[in-house]
Amino acid sequence: MEDKSPTMPYMLLRNFRVLQTRPTSQGQTSYCEYYAPNPVECPGCEARDVVFYDYYKRRAMFLLRGYEKRNLVIKAKRYRCPHCGRVFREPIEGLMAWQRSSIDLRKHIAARYRQGVCNKNIAKEFNVSESTVERIIHERYEAKVKEILHYPAPLVIGIDEHKIHKRRFATTIVDLKNHRVYDIIEGKSETSIGARIRSYPGRMQVKVVCMDLSSPYRSLVQRCFPNAKIVADRFHVIKLVLSTFMEFCREMQPDIRWNRPITGVLRTHGANLTTAQKATLKAFLAANPIIAVAYEFKEKLCNLLNNKKKTKAQCLPLIRELKHCMEQMRSEATKHFHALAKTLSKWFEPIIRMFRFSKNNGITEGFHRKIKGIQRRGYGYRNFENYKLRVLVECSHGR
Ligand SMILES: [Zn+2]
Repeated sequence: MEDKSPTMPYMLLRNFRVLQTRPTSQGQTSYCEYYAPNPVECPGCEARDVVFYDYYKRRAMFLLRGYEKRNLVIKAKRYRCPHCGRVFREPIEGLMAWQRSSIDLRKHIAARYRQGVCNKNIAKEFNVSESTVERIIHERYEAKVKEILHYPAPLVIGIDEHKIHKRRFATTIVDLKNHRVYDIIEGKSETSIGARIRSYPGRMQVKVVCMDLSSPYRSLVQRCFPNAKIVADRFHVIKLVLSTFMEFCREMQPDIRWNRPITGVLRTHGANLTTAQKATLKAFLAANPIIAVAYEFKEKLCNLLNNKKKTKAQCLPLIRELKHCMEQMRSEATKHFHALAKTLSKWFEPIIRMFRFSKNNGITEGFHRKIKGIQRRGYGYRNFENYKLRVLVECSHGR
């Protein structure tokens, strides 16, 4: 219908009069003339009595009817200002200067990304290069991050590392109170992340930093957040107890390695087992009395470590019990439990503080799962800044 009526020229996107449309290697291409809806102003002196100077051609992609991509070859005007002598291009509504795609199209591409479509497929869908997609997403996210990131360091922080690619790591700083990623820094050593952390506004007010037990961050955190208490992360402490216990079981009973139902039952907290699982467990433990002893110990230790939100007075017996457990591990158990006792005593203070708190780095782990999804959608993230922007935007909404 586009070029059939000679009296009523087809208006595309209200300001473009189509002269001709034909298919090209990049899809449908429309040649059109631009009609500015508002009077043109000189960008230098704001005068309105500017005079037509000449035409120029501009190519750009627009979005039709909210979904269809169309290439436009636009015949647009240049004007001259009689007051300041300036020659300038008229601004085109919906298209930023120097860009080759309309604002709507760029928004649409960013929305496709948020729906979980990967860069490569978006690039195919719109017939643009992957780097264009990358640039558009980056540009839209950058604006958003500027809005978000102007708040001081959170009072309760979780710090953890994750892998970006092969041997590249990043450190995530999570606001545990508001469930959002506060920052993400490339690297995990003090030299790469120390300066950045020291630049946080309000770092002296940080009260609690939550981390796992193998963390290389401990001394760094003590220096960067001098007023914060380090709290061990419950999720990781329990994980460590479980892996120690499972290692012990595998050594005592090598067959269980291949016996999934049994390993699953052994790992699960006793209270969360079904009746059938309880029966399986009972039979297994009856046949393996040494594992039965260790199992009971593991359950006791996990129950103990699961205590949270206790008062100072309530903590005292828990601390005593934990000390007793560690004593038992050192004197009565095998080498696996010796190692566990050693770790627990090295992190004794952060662990007992855990009884007072309810926060844990499980939240950080959740973000890491989300980050994995982001990594799958992007293409390698050679550029850390791009990567960081996306993580911040997608993991900083808060609750
Ligand atoms: Zn002027």
